[in-house]
Amino acid sequence: MEKVVIIGSGCAGYTAAIYTARANLNPLLLTGQMPGGLLTTTTTVENYPGFPEGVDGFELMMNMQKQAERFGTRVQLGVTVDEADLSGTPIKLKVGGETIETQTLIIATGAGHRRLGLESEDKLENHGVTYCATCDGAFPRYRDKPLVVVGGGDSACEEANYLTRFGSEVYLIHRRDELRASKIMADRALSNPKIKPVWDTVVTEILDVESNDVTGVKLKNVKSGEESTLDCTGVFVAIGHVPHTQIFKGQLDMNEEGYINRTEGSRTNIPGVFVAGDCSDHVYRQAITAAGMGCQAGIDAERYLADLEH
Ligand code: NAP
Repeated sequence: MEKVVIIGSGCAGYTAAIYTARANLNPLLLTGQMPGGLLTTTTTVENYPGFPEGVDGFELMMNMQKQAERFGTRVQLGVTVDEADLSGTPIKLKVGGETIETQTLIIATGAGHRRLGLESEDKLENHGVTYCATCDGAFPRYRDKPLVVVGGGDSACEEANYLTRFGSEVYLIHRRDELRASKIMADRALSNPKIKPVWDTVVTEILDVESNDVTGVKLKNVKSGEESTLDCTGVFVAIGHVPHTQIFKGQLDMNEEGYINRTEGSRTNIPGVFVAGDCSDHVYRQAITAAGMGCQAGIDAERYLADLEH
């Protein structure tokens, strides 16, 4: 019987591991298919406190893993949970053909960026295609150059506004003729003279795979069918996120998009099950906020176990 199992190896998961390991709870951490989480896919992280020169995302996550292991966390790399039974005690997790039983569970499974689904998008990721303006917008390649943001929600408007600090102009490409974003965010974007909306339009290809560098996008107007090309040095895809919470559906309280509800710190509706990071946060989605929530979950799990003993 495990005391603490943590699912997920992003900032939330590893921080929960550091706290529970230092509390002598000998946590087991299952990394999932992307050890280190989303941050390993970015280059320099410039907004994580404590690194005045920035830190490589991959290196940061490797250091978090080392720190968690130093205090006794058992990290199982590449391991994914197939099923979770949260209906009783102990909590049961199916992993491969085996069942893991645990007194507490910390869910830190994160969220993935929704992707456009283009082959050129996959090939040019980190070569001008990115999913986070806050992370990457300040890089020199985007300075005083035309940039593209795809999407029509709050994220797209926020990213577009943020990018006007760097780009010469920001084209906001949206598949309809009306933004989904809240009025205040939409107004802010549409009244910004550097933001140029392109309505009823989808990106059909990102150029230029051959030179391994973003030089523009191919566009199609969905109403007229007209095709065009737009030069840019960056494509910021902001078409929503998908939380990795599928296996908990029907067991944990979630909002309609699948983000797990947190109450009283990191608690869920099931005692002994705690949640941290992007799988429960659609607002901030930052490395530092995920780490903070991981800390809360670690402390909450520790206190829950202490209460069981008394
Ligand atoms: P969202 O509200 O789901 O918007 C996604 C946008 O992407 C929509 O405009 C959608 O088009 C478009 N889209 C989806 N799939 C697409 C595809 N395959 N191709 C092209 N376009 C596609 O997502 P979000 O903007 O990330 O916001 C998520 C949540 O976080 C929302 O509740 C939002 O209010 C919140 N949020 C809040 C703030 C803030 O308050 N500061 C900032 C960011 C996010 P359609 O409109 O046609 O569906």
